[in-house]
Formats: sequence, structure tokens, C-alpha cells
Amino acid sequence: MMTEAKDHGAWLVDTHAHLDFPELFGDLDGVFERCRAAGVAVVVTIGIDEKTSRMAIELSRRYSHVYATVGLHPHGARRLSDRDADAFVHLASEPKVVALGEMGLDYYRDRQPRPVQRACLEQQLELAVRCDKPAVFHIREAHEDFLKIVTPYAGRLRPSVLHCFSGDWATALRCLDLGFYLSIPGTVTYKNAQEQQRVVRMAPLDRLLVETDAPYLTPVPFRGRPNEPSYVRYTAEKIAELRGCSFEEVAWATTRNAERVFGWGKDRGAQG
Ligand SMILES: [Zn+2]
Ligand SMILES: [Zn+2]
Repeated sequence: MMTEAKDHGAWLVDTHAHLDFPELFGDLDGVFERCRAAGVAVVVTIGIDEKTSRMAIELSRRYSHVYATVGLHPHGARRLSDRDADAFVHLASEPKVVALGEMGLDYYRDRQPRPVQRACLEQQLELAVRCDKPAVFHIREAHEDFLKIVTPYAGRLRPSVLHCFSGDWATALRCLDLGFYLSIPGTVTYKNAQEQQRVVRMAPLDRLLVETDAPYLTPVPFRGRPNEPSYVRYTAEKIAELRGCSFEEVAWATTRNAERVFGWGKDRGAQG
């Protein structure tokens, strides 16, 4: 499937989807068929706790074009025991696990106490360093605290990803200074997404990624339905429109960026 989608020429990577969620898992064949038609050749499926991390790995074993991440989402944040930490390190050693996460701070939903979210993020940053893998960050209304926590890690941590980047341009600049990548979701197609659109126009193209966060955040024109990886195409098209360049240029750059961050090219030879 990967090869066929790549034959389209300009192909895309959905760098953040939850393939194990029922909306997608119930029809994976259809989901991948529509990926192929849309030129989406690779999907990174994301773990949000130990169970879903194991499912992500299972999917990456089953499908050659699927890669996985393992981590603990801020909604489920807790102080990790040594046993928890060892379990994540063990899972991260699987050959198709390309990052730790999603990890982070969510002060919008505040499902867990903020000090616990911060501690859990810090513990997972240690794990990312220990595993020598990038991190995938979920940060909502918490960029100041995030930057405070992450800055001391910047020299040791592989270039990492702010998924669904929702900060303003000033915040984007600080994240770019730390060597991070900004992953742009389907919300950039919404009329009220002016600040996100500004970030997309101003940021260097070699630091942008595209994602769906499927089944959430469905782009226009499918807003209101469950999202799925093939729709990442609408996000890439919107980015091309905003930057005044071609779709092919956006596809080529974001796909190269994803390869660089997640290392499924040649520089991490262990991966099949
Ligand atoms: Zn998230
Ligand atoms: Zn997610």
C-alpha cells in the first residue's frame, strides 16, 4: 500500500492519528484504501497510555505503512513508578516505535492536577532522552509552563514535535528556537483559525508537519464527521494556499520533515 501511494509522486504522512479508536479501528481497510487514493502513504498512530501504546505497536507490526508512539497523555497523567517507566522504555525499544508520547500539559481540560501533569511530562522527557527518541507533545493553554520544563532538555532531546500546535506566533518562534517541529492539524482550515494560519504562513516550511489527530479535529469540508488520515490532504492543501506555494511543495517538505524527525529513513537502520 505504501509503495502504491508513493507512486502518486507527492505523498503525505499523517504524523498523528489514533487508529486504535473505534471510529477508525472498525474500518481500517476502508481507512487505508482512502489513504491510498489521497496519497497518504504513512500514518503514525499514537499511544495515550500503556494499553493504547501496545495497540499502536500491534498495528505497526501488522501494517508496513504504520509507525507507533508510546506514552502517557496528560489527561491520564500520574507520577510514573519505576515499573511504569521500565514498561515504556521496553515498549519504546520496539523497532517501529518512532517517538515517546503523546505527553504534555493540558490546562484547558485540566483532567489531572497541574503539578501531576508537569511531573509526568518531566518523567517522560527523561525517558525520551534515555531512549534517544523524539517526543510528541500535547500542549493546550500551557505553553509557558511547557517551555519552562522543556528548555533544560533541549540539548539532550532529539528534535521533537508539538502536535496540533495551537500557540501564537511568538510561542511558535520559541519552540522553533528549541529545534522543535510544529505539526498542523485540520483546524487550520477553519475560518476562526487566524493565529494558526499566521503561524503556518510565517514558519519555515522545513519545520512543519501535517496531521489529522483522527478521529478528532476534522477539516473543512468534512467538519462534523469523524476525522480520518486521508483527510490530512485538506490540511496540506490549505497550507499550500496560505503560503502561496504548490501542494506538491508542501507534501514533499512535510514528508521529508517527518522522515527526519521520526527516522524511518536510513539513519536508524534497525527499522524495517
Ligand atoms: Zn493530543
Ligand atoms: Zn492525539
